[in-house]
Amino acid sequence: MAKKHKKSKKLRTRVPRRTFLRASSALGASLLWTACGGDDGTLEQAGSGQSGTTGTTGPGSGGGAQSSTSATGPGATTGASGGTGGRPPTPECAETEDNIEGPFYKAGAPDKTSLYEAGMPGTRLTISGQVFGLDGCEALAGAVLDVWQADDAAVYDGAGYKLRGKLHPDADGKYVLETIIPGHYLNGAQYRPAHVHVKASAPGHVLLTTQLYFEGDPYNDIDPFIKPELIMTLSDGPNGEKLATFDFVLAPSP
Ligand code: FE
Repeated sequence: MAKKHKKSKKLRTRVPRRTFLRASSALGASLLWTACGGDDGTLEQAGSGQSGTTGTTGPGSGGGAQSSTSATGPGATTGASGGTGGRPPTPECAETEDNIEGPFYKAGAPDKTSLYEAGMPGTRLTISGQVFGLDGCEALAGAVLDVWQADDAAVYDGAGYKLRGKLHPDADGKYVLETIIPGHYLNGAQYRPAHVHVKASAPGHVLLTTQLYFEGDPYNDIDPFIKPELIMTLSDGPNGEKLATFDFVLAPSP
């Protein structure tokens, strides 16, 4: 199992620092929200309710994350495949880095076993891993991963819950998230790297709000929010999909 870097300083109580949302069409058409803002927490309305609002999708959208085969970020591990439901406490077991919530979180997402839906455009992606507690680095039962992301055209679903859902890892904290690689959307004057938002929680532990990124994304180097510990390596799956791993380590509640 890959090691995790020790972090220097951390807020133990996380309050969503930026909240969001913006609707588009007032008619029956689906409300699709795209990002355009001064930072990830401020935005303007864009588009007219049509999917794939033009002007917000970056070149190489959905495919910007390049494949590679070696592990990178400390958060990117082999937890799901190699975990046994727990591991001994180790200095390398460090709380997962948080990251901004951004403007597109939508409460009330339904329970899902997969965010991917048949026919959904984009590069299929499977992220797997495990949820641990910082207290002893034991696997956590009862964890919930509330996940949301943009689609291949860099659009967040503001009307429904496409690419939004709550995953329930097993009793050993293991999870498998089937989805697609998100597109790039404009954040002010520049595109954000592809990312998957997650709120990870478990009984007796502090809610973690973070984002998962992809090694090789052309916008990683210019993004003001990305943290290296949150960058996952992609490898090629057997059916053309991309594979990534990420373990979450949650701090115990005060
Ligand atoms: Fe986002």
